[in-house]
Amino acid sequence: MTQEALTEEKIWQGTAVSSGVAHAVVHVLKEDFDEPDAEPITAEQVESEMERWRAALDATHREIEQLKEMVSTEARSAEADIFDTHLLILEDVSIRKQVEKSVREKLICVDAIYYRLMCKHMDALRGLADSYLRERFLDIKDITQRVMRHLRGELLQHPMFDDPVIIVAHDLTPSDTVQLDRSKVLGFAIEMGSGNSHAAIIARSLGLPAVVRMHGIAEDLHSGDPVLLDGNEGLVILNPTPATLSKYRSREQQAEKLEDALHATRHQPAVTTDGFKVQVCANAEFVEEMGDIRDSGAAHVGLFRTEFLYMEDPAGTEDWLAESYTRAVKAIAPGHVTFRTLDIGGDKVDDQIGAEEEPNPFLGWRGIRVSLGRKQMFRRQLRALLRAAAHGPIGIMFPMVCDVGEVRAAKELLAECAQELSEEGYPPPKQVDIGAMIEIPSAALTADLIAAEVDFFSLGTNDLVQYTLAVDRLNERVADLYSPTHPAVLRLIGLTVEAARRAGIRVCICGEMAADVEVLPLLLGLGLDELSVSAGQISRVKHAIRRLNAAECAKIVEDCRHLGCPKMILERSRAIAQRLYPDLFE
Ligand code: PEP
Ligand code: MG
Repeated sequence: MTQEALTEEKIWQGTAVSSGVAHAVVHVLKEDFDEPDAEPITAEQVESEMERWRAALDATHREIEQLKEMVSTEARSAEADIFDTHLLILEDVSIRKQVEKSVREKLICVDAIYYRLMCKHMDALRGLADSYLRERFLDIKDITQRVMRHLRGELLQHPMFDDPVIIVAHDLTPSDTVQLDRSKVLGFAIEMGSGNSHAAIIARSLGLPAVVRMHGIAEDLHSGDPVLLDGNEGLVILNPTPATLSKYRSREQQAEKLEDALHATRHQPAVTTDGFKVQVCANAEFVEEMGDIRDSGAAHVGLFRTEFLYMEDPAGTEDWLAESYTRAVKAIAPGHVTFRTLDIGGDKVDDQIGAEEEPNPFLGWRGIRVSLGRKQMFRRQLRALLRAAAHGPIGIMFPMVCDVGEVRAAKELLAECAQELSEEGYPPPKQVDIGAMIEIPSAALTADLIAAEVDFFSLGTNDLVQYTLAVDRLNERVADLYSPTHPAVLRLIGLTVEAARRAGIRVCICGEMAADVEVLPLLLGLGLDELSVSAGQISRVKHAIRRLNAAECAKIVEDCRHLGCPKMILERSRAIAQRLYPDLFE
């Protein structure tokens, strides 16, 4: 290939799921590694083979020490513990002896011997019921991958992310995202996924551009390739030319102007032109986001997804959890933090968490079902939350509620935990509001019954849409059918708001729909006065609310009642939005 061909600009088109532009080299996260061939060696080659292996082990050791140091300085001590476990596996004497013995006896290259031995260990752990032991499977896999790379001389170009990178991957699970050095990641380009996958939600939360459905990109690109990632148009541009870069720079300047204007008004209240006040809160996944949230103009944290903290250390103690939650509470007080209890399951299940494989994970063991099935784990979380509540007001809400009985069972456990803590002499919580996520149609349809048990509702429309329309939120083949403006979805939202109003409780919407300024007229028209969106969207959403008229919004909802087509309803809402805040669409 000629030099020009190697540095030629090349463009891939995908689906934009988180806005923004990033320019950096890519880091390709490879899925797995191929099984090495069992190459025969001679008896004379044994020593050099052993030397090659020891060098790979040493290099892996240094790499892990560096990683450990990096996370320790970031106060992510639980992650540093993971690397201690990795070092123990790496240094395991019996593994070392077995490898050496097999290489000498079988006269086969060390790559194949080491790989097969580690696979045997992984197979033994993979099927175990004990979740702790099953997690060790991942540790062994990780170590094996590192050693194999060193044996092959395939040093990653950015293993430690010394420099900023754009992550390119076939797929990115929420737990992959948790393990990344987030301070160095500038964006994501992913082959799979959808706008509702948790990787996309995290990207928006961190304010990073992300593009999904970039088929083949993990094969076509190599770590170190310079690219421009356009999260607005859904593009990845390899080797961007000076002309392309200059075009993007001028667009950036224009976007910055709008951003500055929105930023200046972010702390002002969001009141419609006819005086209807809307609370705009923030969604969060990580404790480190609290600083940005305080600065975003958010009234409170409307949704803290606790499963990401859990995934950082599934065996984390109550003390560690209480300390982490307390940091969030203290950062936001006197505002409140609404913590959602663990919503493990769906796309937030992987080997690390150790749930059995399920044919339909989104219809399976998820959310409150897992918590009520693992009482000890649930108690640990509830106790930690109540301890954190001594430092500021909090909300505790339960995900995936499908009937009122689940709420009652969770509340019983919460009351028991509160009693225990009081007997143990912990300071009393300041204020704890109890809430239920309304994200399953059965919950929306029985919202009146659930309302009697809680202080607030939170509408999880990401799931409400998928469960109402039978459209998997991650499945790109049916992505066109994923319609938040489907009349069935709007009716369920309407029923929930009505039930909340009748019971005199608050109702918030925390799904991604709340940040979509095109559907905002419909949400206000349905009577919602509390929205929770990612910190980066707060100023935009507030700006849009200030231009809307609540009475007019109610009229649009009324006018749409006879429409059966989600697209037509969206068009009506979008027309109003584009007329009243055209600047947000430029
Ligand atoms: C939702 O379903 O809308 C929601 C907020 O929860 P999650 O996206 O984490 O499932
Ligand atoms: Mg949900």
